[in-house]
Amino acid sequence: MIEQKIKAAIRDVHDFPKPGIIFKDVTTILQDHQLCQEILDAFVERAQGMHIDAVAGVESRGFLFGLMIAMKLGVPFIPVRKAGKLPFTVKRKVYELEYGTATIELHTDAFTPGSNVLIHDDLLATGGTVTATSELIKEMGGHIAGFSFVVGLSFLKGEEKISPISDNIVVLAN
Ligand code: AMP
Repeated sequence: MIEQKIKAAIRDVHDFPKPGIIFKDVTTILQDHQLCQEILDAFVERAQGMHIDAVAGVESRGFLFGLMIAMKLGVPFIPVRKAGKLPFTVKRKVYELEYGTATIELHTDAFTPGSNVLIHDDLLATGGTVTATSELIKEMGGHIAGFSFVVGLSFLKGEEKISPISDNIVVLAN
């Protein structure tokens, strides 16, 4: 039910940011506050039993529901940012993209070591970004409680990549 609503609300933008890519634009979901509430409720329901101590949201669309989930669960939010955005001391991870590399950073005091962290992003594609995020969190003393996404591009098999890290994977629409 929620899957159909999400699919209907998302806008497919062809050839963005480059030719051949179908970009899943979630900003259209944000225009529907009732759907946003249903999405948040679905995430919170699925988070029960995961023992989450903190939620990490991946820049920038992972901030949208990531902070809401954290607030609803009553736990801290961790912003995972691209290189050069965080002002305090950082730990970084460089990871491979299809062409080239990308870098993510966390503040060194972003969470308490030993925390069980839920990693959240708007969309699961290859799983490269959240895998790099999980590695950085583990290097900083955290544990991975699970992953959550509004949308998954199942043909890219991201779930296969991340399931060895945690089998708590929530994808609301595939
Ligand atoms: P990946 O690391 O391949 O799983 O890519 C996930 C990240 O790239 C997420 O932060 C997504 O927001 C973004 N992304 C990748 N592919 C798309 C797409 N087709 N539409 C929208 N966002 C995408």
